[in-house]
Amino acid sequence: MKSAYITEANHVEIRQTERPVPRHTELLVKIAFCGICTLEQRLFTGERTIYFPIVAGHEASATVVAIGSEVVSKHTIGDHVALDLVNRCHICPECLSGNSNLCENRFSKGQHILGAFSEYMTVRAEQAHILPKELPLATAALTEPLACAIRSLKKVSLQLGDTLLICGAGTMGLLHMKLGMAMGAKVIMCDIDKNRLQDAQRMGCFAALDASDSEYLIGQVKNLSGGRGVDCCIITSPSKDAANLAFQVLAPAGRVNVFTSYDDRPEFPIDMDTVHRNEYQITGSEGRSEIDFTQAVRVLSNKTIEVADLISKTFPLASISEAMEAALDKTTYRVLIKAD
Ligand SMILES: [Zn+2]
Ligand SMILES: [Zn+2]
Repeated sequence: MKSAYITEANHVEIRQTERPVPRHTELLVKIAFCGICTLEQRLFTGERTIYFPIVAGHEASATVVAIGSEVVSKHTIGDHVALDLVNRCHICPECLSGNSNLCENRFSKGQHILGAFSEYMTVRAEQAHILPKELPLATAALTEPLACAIRSLKKVSLQLGDTLLICGAGTMGLLHMKLGMAMGAKVIMCDIDKNRLQDAQRMGCFAALDASDSEYLIGQVKNLSGGRGVDCCIITSPSKDAANLAFQVLAPAGRVNVFTSYDDRPEFPIDMDTVHRNEYQITGSEGRSEIDFTQAVRVLSNKTIEVADLISKTFPLASISEAMEAALDKTTYRVLIKAD
């Protein structure tokens, strides 16, 4: 089978290897589509290193082609599945308390890490969520990022009628937006990119605001939230202006979730007394648990939201270098690899 190996920064190559054989408790799946997430972009550019050579890819849909003899789930050959490629040990304190996204053994030695930029891979049965056949496999490749947005919105306890501000209108910001709208929130998007704002507006947000003039922006957000400020804010952009804005426009008892990761470890732009006096709640979210993933599968299967408009381009596995460049281009949302 063919797999795409990142062998060093800015170099990815296709190698031919043996098709893996599933263990008794595993499935062999044929990858259909896999998205290029920020993690893969950073692994490609060398901003982040796990090890070399590495087969990246963690936002994948697939078809089941072989089933290990001890698999007890209802999987059958030909099933369409969305792959949840976090390794979960199921026995560490994090796994046992519902935060398996933080499993302390997820990167332990011997674990499969990523791996979906490939024609085939083996997974444990619980990592392959069965999808309805009507759901296009390309769309299903967005299950994983959607699951991360679902976890993030749980952190701010989003309620019907809330005003939700989302800082950053990239793929993740727009997934939060679509979910927020489906959950009955008034969603305000902000970004410095005018094209992204236009897209957000077209996809139905309440308002899409230009973030390049922060004073003007603060005034606009306050106006749109009755002068009171927003109930919740999700920070999906690592810009310091985004974090500043969040705390300038937060209503009393407001909730902020830090969804983005940062390279430069900035400090919070807010003093602790203000947090105390306003009962602000500040959280972070990283990845997704199996519960979040299950909910993402349901949201897509039930057509609660449409996400296909966030797929900008699709490339065959053989053109992965080109696909990486396209993903790094700020004008694209998700870029997918078609593995077969
Ligand atoms: Zn991802
Ligand atoms: Zn664990």
